[in-house]
Amino acid sequence: MPKPRVSAAGGFAAVGYTFRKGREVGGVFKLYKRMRSKNACKTCALGMGGQRGGMVNEAGSFPEVCKKSLQAQAGDMQSPLTEAFFREHSIAELETWSSLQMEAAGRPVFPVAWREGDTHFKRVSWDEALDRVAADLRAAAREQTFFYGSGRSSNEAAFLMQTLARAYGTANIHNCSFYCHQASGVALSRVLGTGTSTLVLEDLDKADLAIVAGANPSSNHPRLITKLVEIKERGGTVIVINPVKELGLVRFKIPSRPRSLLFGSDVSDIYLQPNVGADIATCKALLKGVIERDGVDRTYVRDHVEGWDAVEADVRATSFETLLAESGLTRSEIDRAAAALVAARRGVFLWAMGLTHHEHGVNNVVALANLAIARGWVGRPGCGLLPIRGHSNVQGLGSMGFAPALKEAFAKKMEEVYGIPPASTPGLDTFRCMEAAHAGRIRVAVFLGGNLFGSNPDRTWAAEALQRIDTTCVIATKLNEGHVHGRGRYHVVLPVLARDEETQSTTQESMFNFVRLSDGGEAAPAGELRSEVDVVCALAARLLPPGPFPFSTMTNHDAVRRAMAAVVPGFGPIAEIGATKAEFQIPGRTFHEPAFATPSGKARAQVTPLPRFKPGPGEFRLMTLRSEGQFNTVVYEDEDLYRGMTRRDVVMMAEADGERLGVREYDPVEVVTEIGRMRVVAAFIDIPPGNLAMYYPEANRVVPRRVDPESGTPAFKSIVARLAPVRG
Ligand code: SF4
Repeated sequence: MPKPRVSAAGGFAAVGYTFRKGREVGGVFKLYKRMRSKNACKTCALGMGGQRGGMVNEAGSFPEVCKKSLQAQAGDMQSPLTEAFFREHSIAELETWSSLQMEAAGRPVFPVAWREGDTHFKRVSWDEALDRVAADLRAAAREQTFFYGSGRSSNEAAFLMQTLARAYGTANIHNCSFYCHQASGVALSRVLGTGTSTLVLEDLDKADLAIVAGANPSSNHPRLITKLVEIKERGGTVIVINPVKELGLVRFKIPSRPRSLLFGSDVSDIYLQPNVGADIATCKALLKGVIERDGVDRTYVRDHVEGWDAVEADVRATSFETLLAESGLTRSEIDRAAAALVAARRGVFLWAMGLTHHEHGVNNVVALANLAIARGWVGRPGCGLLPIRGHSNVQGLGSMGFAPALKEAFAKKMEEVYGIPPASTPGLDTFRCMEAAHAGRIRVAVFLGGNLFGSNPDRTWAAEALQRIDTTCVIATKLNEGHVHGRGRYHVVLPVLARDEETQSTTQESMFNFVRLSDGGEAAPAGELRSEVDVVCALAARLLPPGPFPFSTMTNHDAVRRAMAAVVPGFGPIAEIGATKAEFQIPGRTFHEPAFATPSGKARAQVTPLPRFKPGPGEFRLMTLRSEGQFNTVVYEDEDLYRGMTRRDVVMMAEADGERLGVREYDPVEVVTEIGRMRVVAAFIDIPPGNLAMYYPEANRVVPRRVDPESGTPAFKSIVARLAPVRG
C-alpha cells in the first residue's frame, strides 16, 4: 500500500511548502504581504480575509491559512505569458498538456484568439475580440447562446453578466455549482425552503457532535479541520462517513498550534467506510439506530416538522439486514455512531460532493437532513446543516442570479426596477446546455471564468460539444485545459485581473452566507489586463441598446452594488459597503430558531428510497475524487501527499481485490465503464473491497453522462466499472 510521506496531514510539510512557494514567487515576505492584504481568500468558500485582513476568519481568528490558498496566490503571481509562448506552442501541442502544465504556464496578459484552421493562438486587440463576440451574439438566436460563470468571479461581475444575459434575452445562465452542490441546493430547498447553509461559523464552536459525510476537508478546506479538532477537544464527537480512510480525517497537524504542529491532533472518533453510493442506506441505518434508542426529539418533530411519520414508518419498515448489506457497514459500527448521536446535545452535519455526485444526489442530502431533523438539530444554536462549498464565491454567483431561473422576489424586482422581464423560454442548466451544444444547437457561449470542459463527465463528448459552438469567449486569469479543448470555431481568451489586483473593491460570499469586501490593490502583471466588470460593461456597450439598466455607469463598482441592492434579496447592506466597509451576514438563510422558509414555517422531512445502484458480479463501484495537490479541476502537483500517491494515472482499490484479481501494486490495469476504457496502474488504499477511486478530472474520460434528474448534477461517483488486468 502506498505510504504517505507524512504521519499526519498538515504540519511541517505544509510549513515547508509555504517557504518553497514563497521562494518561487520572489520571497516569502512578498507572498505573506499579499496573503495578508484585505482581500477574501481566492480558494475555498470557507472564507478568510476581507476587511479583517488576509488569513483571518469571520470570528477574528488568525492565522487562518492553508496550502490551497498559497497555491492559488502563487499561481496568480506567476510571470506573464509572452507572444513568443503562443508562437512556440501550437494548439495541437497544448492539447497534450495536463492541467498542471496549463496552470503553471503563466498569466495571460493580452487577448488571444483562435479561428478554425489556425495552428496557433494569435494575439488580438480587445476591440477586435469584443466586437466579434458582440456581433456573433447579436446574430444568434437567443436560445442558442449560453452564459457560464465560475466561483472565482466577484459578485459585481456576476451580477452584471447575468443582467446582461437577461437583457439580451436568454435565460441559459448557469454556474459551476450545477456540477457540484446543486443537489444540495435542491435538497435543502425541498426540506427548508432555502438552499444554503443553515448555520454560521460560530455554531461550529457550540456543537458537541459533527458528522462529516462525503467530504475530505483536510485536503479541500483545510481550516475546517481546526473546527473539528476543537469539537473533540471540548469532549465532543466527530463522525466521518467516507468510503476512503483519509489520513487528514484521522490525524492532522495544525500549523498554527505549536502542540498540534509537533504531535498532531486526532480529527475523528468514529470513521464509517460505507460502499460508494450507499449514503442513503447509511443515514437510514443511523436513523433506525436513533429511533431504537428513543433518540428522536419528539417535541421538535411534532411542532416543527412535516412528513415525519412517513419517514419514520419507512425506516422502521426497512430491516437492518437490508441497510447493512447495502452500506457494507456492520451493526456494531452503526450502534456506536447511533449511540453517539443520541448522547450529543448539539450536532452539525457537513457534507460535500461525496453526497451530491450521484444520480441520487438530492436524496442523499435529504437522507442526511432527516437524521439532523430527528435529533431536532436544525434551527437551533450550535446545530445545523452545512454544505461544504467549493470555490470562494460560488455561493455568491447563485445569490447574484447566475442561474437559469431567478427567485420569485428577485425576478419581480428585475422587471419592476430595470424593466427586464423573465425570458420567454425557460433557461437550460449546465448539463442541458452541454447537450444542446453537442446537438449543434448553441452558436455562442460566454464563460466568466472556470473550466467547463474539464468539469464535465465524458471528456471526449465534452470536447466535441464545446467545439461545435461557433463562438466561445473565455474571461480568465490563468490558462486551463478548457481554453484549448473547449474552444469553439472562433475562440477568444480575455485576460482579467485577479481579485486582489482589482483597482476597485469587489465582494464575495462565503459558504456561511457571509459577504466580504475585497479591497484589490495588489500589483498585477504588466500587460493589458482588465477588470471583469469593465469587460462585461464593454460587451454590453457593443451588444445592447440603451435601456433602463444603466450599463454605461456600471464600471464604478459602488454603482453596481447599489444596482444589486435594489433587486437581490437580502443584499440591501451591499449598497454602501464600499464606504462603510461593513461586511455582513445575509438575513433569512441561517436558522437559530426552528422557523423555516417554507410556507408552513416547518421543516419538510421526506422519505428517501434506497437507490437501485447495484453492481453485478465482477463489477465495482467507482468514484472520482481530488488530491491534496489540486483544487477543483486545477492540478498544482502530481503528488497526493496524504494518500502517498506520486502519480495521478492510478486506480485506487482494496488490497483484497488486488489479491483476488492477481493484481499487484503498480501493475497496469484497464478500468472499463459503459463509455470507454482507461489504462492506469493499480494502487492499494484503505477502501472497502468492491469499490474503486480515480482522480478527477482525468478519469472523467470514463465517467458516463448520467445526472441526478432533479438537480442536473452529474454522477461522478456511483459508476459501475470493471477492472481488466493488462498482461504482457
Ligand atoms: S480553508 Fe479555504 S478559505 Fe481558508 S485559507 Fe484555506 S482555501 Fe482559504
